Amino acid sequence: AGKRTRGGVTAEPVAPAPRVRVLLPLPLGHAYDYRVPDGFALAPGAFVVVPLGGRETIGVVWDGDPDPALPEHRLRNVVAVLDAPPMTAVLRRFVDWVAAYTLSPPGAVLRMAMSAPSALEPPAPQAGWRRAGMPRDGVRITPMRRRVLDVLADGAARAGGELAEAAGVAPAVLRGMADAGLIEPALMPRRPVFALPDPEHPGPALGAEQRDAADALRAAVARHGFSTTLLTGVTGSGKTEVYFEAIAECLRQGRQALVLLPEIALSAQWLDRFRARFGVAPALWHSELTSRTRRETWRAVAEGAAPVLVGARSALFLPYPDLGLIVVDEEHETAFKQEEGVVYHARDMAVVRARLSDAACVLASATPSLESATNAQTGRYAMVHLPARHGGAEMPAVEAVDLRRTPPERGRFLSPPLVVAVGETLDRGEQAMLFLNRRGYAPMTLCRTCGHRLRCPNCTAWLVEHRAQRRLQCHHCGHVEPIPEACPECGSAHSTVPIGPGVERVLEEARALWPEARVLVMASDTIPGPAAAAAAAKAIQDREVDLIIGTQIVAKGWHFPHLTLVGVVDADLGLAGGDLRAAERTVQLLHQVAGRAGREERPGRVLLQTFAPEHPVMQALVHGDLEAFMEAEADGRRPGHWPPYGRLAALIVSSEDERAADRTARDLGLAAPGGEGVEVLGPAPAPLAVLRGRHRRRLLLKTRRDIAVQPLLEDWLAKVDVPGSVRVQVDVDPVGF
Ligand code: ADP
Ligand code: ZN
Ligand code: ZN
Repeated sequence: AGKRTRGGVTAEPVAPAPRVRVLLPLPLGHAYDYRVPDGFALAPGAFVVVPLGGRETIGVVWDGDPDPALPEHRLRNVVAVLDAPPMTAVLRRFVDWVAAYTLSPPGAVLRMAMSAPSALEPPAPQAGWRRAGMPRDGVRITPMRRRVLDVLADGAARAGGELAEAAGVAPAVLRGMADAGLIEPALMPRRPVFALPDPEHPGPALGAEQRDAADALRAAVARHGFSTTLLTGVTGSGKTEVYFEAIAECLRQGRQALVLLPEIALSAQWLDRFRARFGVAPALWHSELTSRTRRETWRAVAEGAAPVLVGARSALFLPYPDLGLIVVDEEHETAFKQEEGVVYHARDMAVVRARLSDAACVLASATPSLESATNAQTGRYAMVHLPARHGGAEMPAVEAVDLRRTPPERGRFLSPPLVVAVGETLDRGEQAMLFLNRRGYAPMTLCRTCGHRLRCPNCTAWLVEHRAQRRLQCHHCGHVEPIPEACPECGSAHSTVPIGPGVERVLEEARALWPEARVLVMASDTIPGPAAAAAAAKAIQDREVDLIIGTQIVAKGWHFPHLTLVGVVDADLGLAGGDLRAAERTVQLLHQVAGRAGREERPGRVLLQTFAPEHPVMQALVHGDLEAFMEAEADGRRPGHWPPYGRLAALIVSSEDERAADRTARDLGLAAPGGEGVEVLGPAPAPLAVLRGRHRRRLLLKTRRDIAVQPLLEDWLAKVDVPGSVRVQVDVDPVGF
């Protein structure tokens, strides 16, 4: 039976053309149906070109059945199939899983998995030169030309730059030789981009405890199935060398390994150690790669030619054909949470990706998150623990310095006990570190005359003075302005004063106290990239630095053999504010910073400047009893069903129009889900009530653990009309609130 079109004419193809669903990498994208022209064989995963509106775009043939009810005339044809390795079923399922969990459009997640679309073009063979058969008559063979011909004597082609260099001639010489018919252009086979890490390359010999731990991880990889293991152990216990053995096992199995690092730009020492263990450098994946390296890396991963990949969280979405191991190093780090676009936690998604890939997942940290520690306790994760520092080094002695009893001098920030300790350390020829998690000179500037405080025009935040650059800066939106000559409020001239310390101000104080000391500041503005980080690490290792002053950058897994004293300038800094995880995070951060001290023969010492030495966080650090602290933390969260004993999701409502943001937040509040084990908190101003000129309100959905938040959120959002000027961002498992 035919179907009637609007014109009343019966139109029915004899046999309807096959259809496919194609997912497009667009922020609002879901799968659309397309017609498959004759002669195309399309299986799920194929990269295809399809029309979309007035243009063409690349998408992926997706799983699931096309909609048979969609009339034939509304279908458009697939235009082309790309010659690229198809997206694996595992990666397609992962994209769908992440989309469903984070309530993101699948197209937005696919976009992350297609982060190098130009990689889909087949790689161009490289152009080069080889010897030509017959030179023209009368061509002169100069000594330079002779050298070029000698390099090409074996008949193989060479790339121009490489050839000119090997022969010691200018590139112009090659062009002249080509004109003379001495050499001719040739296409060269592509060389593999990445050298193969060798699992049998001799690395450092493991200690007995490391060997046991490595055996456990190796066995998990060898099982060829899904498992998650929490690898813990004090700072300096040698966890890296242990999980390297899991990587080696994975390579022996012929599968790929992925290592996620929280801050790849700061990982020079890590890369040195990888090279020492496997003989070559691993492939890298992060946002700073050039587009060419990105393309080559993406392709190499897809072809299985990058056996070990080290990357930032986005590396989870690369097209590994057979992933056997994922390591998440420093799994407690909040850098693994992506807050923009698709809001996801890479540590949690790593476990999911490992499950879909039948791979082993290893979460490593000296200070595991309460989430992971709880999963290990309940047996969902296996647990491997290294009890002591490698090589017999002791853990540093941690002392609290009570700022109420021994305050710094007026206008200073280092207390007498800390000043003495740094002085003694420097006198012994050892290195000291001062840690303050605040960039710039002063976190706030106010007018002495009228009390006005200088704020960012776009955010609910103080402007931070950066004295070196003579300017004020917002650390949230990047707004910059000169330090005002006169108070913008009352007009008094030169009346502004800095309030509180940043690392630049600590530097000023240190210079006055220890004028002879060679000081290095490590903050994101002084260590802008991998090269600077590597240079800083080398200068410290080579003892060209006596005193290090740094922000949280210094907490990142560094191994500085001569560093014996760590001073924490403001140990209370992270405890302010209403963040659920403030205490947990402060313990983790300060324990990591403390862990930089005394990593070799000479014992380390740590001084925490605090106004609350009796605070459980300071007590945990002083007594080195993180487990007791975490148990107390767990006991505090259990009764109220706070994570990890319950589920949490945040809705962030934002708009440039404050009233519109309020209205939508109120509507969401009125439509809030309820019932047994479900609670909605808010609306309330979000932690940064104004950010980049947008007013932000927040609602929190808290449920019991056995209740899934996604269906609740979907129903909830469907009930409320959100005007175009308002954005509602969903954050499942928010970390900072
Ligand atoms: P963690 O990650 O547990 O803090 P690391 O893996 O950074 O500890 O190891 C601490 C230091 O000890 C590093 O400098 C590392 O190179 C060294 N190390 C660890 N294991 C060995 C080993 N088996 N042989 C030699 N050096 C080792
Ligand atoms: Zn003023
Ligand atoms: Zn701002």
